[in-house]
Amino acid sequence: MEIQDLMYDIRENAIKRMDKKSPADLSASWSSEDLLYSGKGNAVFVILPTPGCAHALSESGGCTMCSYIADSPLEKVSSSELIDIFKKLMERHDIQPKTAVKIFVSGSFLNEEELPKEARDEILKILNKNDNIEEVVVESRPEFVSENVLKDCCNLLQDKIFEVSIGLESGSDYIKKYKINKGFLNKDFEIAINIIKKMKNDYKITSKAYLFVKPVLTSEKEAIDDAVASAKYAEEVGVDRISFCPATIHKGTLMELLWRRGSYKPPWIWSIIEIIKKVRSEVKIPVIMDTSGFGTRRGPFNCKKCNKKFKNMIIESNLNQSIPEEIECECRNRWRGDVEFSDLTRSTTCIK
Ligand SMILES: [Zn+2]
Repeated sequence: MEIQDLMYDIRENAIKRMDKKSPADLSASWSSEDLLYSGKGNAVFVILPTPGCAHALSESGGCTMCSYIADSPLEKVSSSELIDIFKKLMERHDIQPKTAVKIFVSGSFLNEEELPKEARDEILKILNKNDNIEEVVVESRPEFVSENVLKDCCNLLQDKIFEVSIGLESGSDYIKKYKINKGFLNKDFEIAINIIKKMKNDYKITSKAYLFVKPVLTSEKEAIDDAVASAKYAEEVGVDRISFCPATIHKGTLMELLWRRGSYKPPWIWSIIEIIKKVRSEVKIPVIMDTSGFGTRRGPFNCKKCNKKFKNMIIESNLNQSIPEEIECECRNRWRGDVEFSDLTRSTTCIK
């Protein structure tokens, strides 16, 4: 069985089990402290429910860890409805000076089949009116990054930074193809980043790579090594910053299926610390480590004694780009055992 067929079946099952929710019910927003290009500031996160990621909706079945499709309305959402939802979400926040607005649609912000140009333009116009907003960050697969679409966005934002984040996940094509089912390769990523780089002379445009920590069928040691190698690769290609997403198990994914069978475990927080230490000393661009899901049953985990301490330390180190100080906990030896064991066996698991 090919991974695409398996992912297709998993997705069909997930869709069947889904509770039907309206686009407004699927929307969300929150704010937090964040690191901007100009230093410490705030970020407002906006989840805008578009019909669903083109990759997940295609024959490919989508990525092995992604549940965006289960959180998508799966039907056309009109431009006026999207604009209305966006306005209401933004009204909830008192936008402070030095704010970045990060918009997450169900797939790609730049895909006009998913987010109609009319809605995209209006959203950017609304953001452009607020002088406290310094950066607008969106997410897109590389195939939707084109000079024309980017110019449209940048022209509407004028003086604000427009950042395109691409879920590269790993700098290894093998991992992207066989463990993530990502549906694109490094060469596609490089084409998109080069378009952005070329535009930098004329526009305030930047790029970011999202990197995924510990895909399925990956040992603890491989996960650390791949995360570090991927950050170096992304820097070499020329992205402006990196955001790591350590695995959390989402419903209706291959990752959940393997986890339930005891064939997958999210990464140790110790491994995350190891990645931060290596990347912050070997990579020069800003690197953010996402901590959502930390310490929960489905997320990165150490032990009940130290989960929270580490999570807070990582949040702080994101703002300062510092290397977290050494703290000790008895669970460290168990982590060491996992890393050394996985180094001996490598990952020989396969999907039956
Ligand atoms: Zn511990």
